[in-house]
Amino acid sequence: MNILIVEDETALAEAVEHILRKAGHSADRVADGQSALDYIRVGGYDLILLDIMLPRLDGISVLRQLRSEGVQTPVLMLTARTTVPDKVAGLNAGADDYLTKPFDPEELLARVGAMTRRRGEVVLDELCYGDLTLELNTVTLRCGSRDVQLGPKEFALMRLMLSEPKMIYSKDLLISRAWGLDSEATDNNVEAYISFLRKKLRYLGSGVTIKNLQKIGYRLEVTP
Ligand code: CA
Repeated sequence: MNILIVEDETALAEAVEHILRKAGHSADRVADGQSALDYIRVGGYDLILLDIMLPRLDGISVLRQLRSEGVQTPVLMLTARTTVPDKVAGLNAGADDYLTKPFDPEELLARVGAMTRRRGEVVLDELCYGDLTLELNTVTLRCGSRDVQLGPKEFALMRLMLSEPKMIYSKDLLISRAWGLDSEATDNNVEAYISFLRKKLRYLGSGVTIKNLQKIGYRLEVTP
């Protein structure tokens, strides 16, 4: 799993990173809430370990913000606080589990493993939103009795947008995920492929559209 550690106590963050890497996970570290949001918005994390007391933006606010943006990545809250109100606030804000500091490495790995397994139970071979189904094995987009094949870039874009359908996708993010961070693709490439996808959605007669939010990016919308 690819894990983001959000923790401002450097020694603890390093220790957690070491434990996770030794257990075969990959991990990045950030030390404040605002950087955490920046990292998570780029995507690619399977799990977030989130401290509550953080500089710039506290962990509860980070979590509320992510969930309000439709980001569903599992979150394990790490906190020195043991009082009930903080735990309730964290769970209300959308945390999946809790770990109170100090914790031992075995317990951390057990919790991380439990969250992996919970996620692992669902073997995704399709993504659905509104009346649309994207079949991952056959690269086919389906709506009712109609279906179309997608090209590789169309598939990459659609798969990303359907994985978190309520999120807004900037052109930079779409380029980095569909073409790669070091590609020379430009906004024009994204616009061209979004237009191909819109044609296919119209052909399918889907109620799902790709809305253009001026200067921000794209988001899927469902028309009932
Ligand atoms: Ca802290």
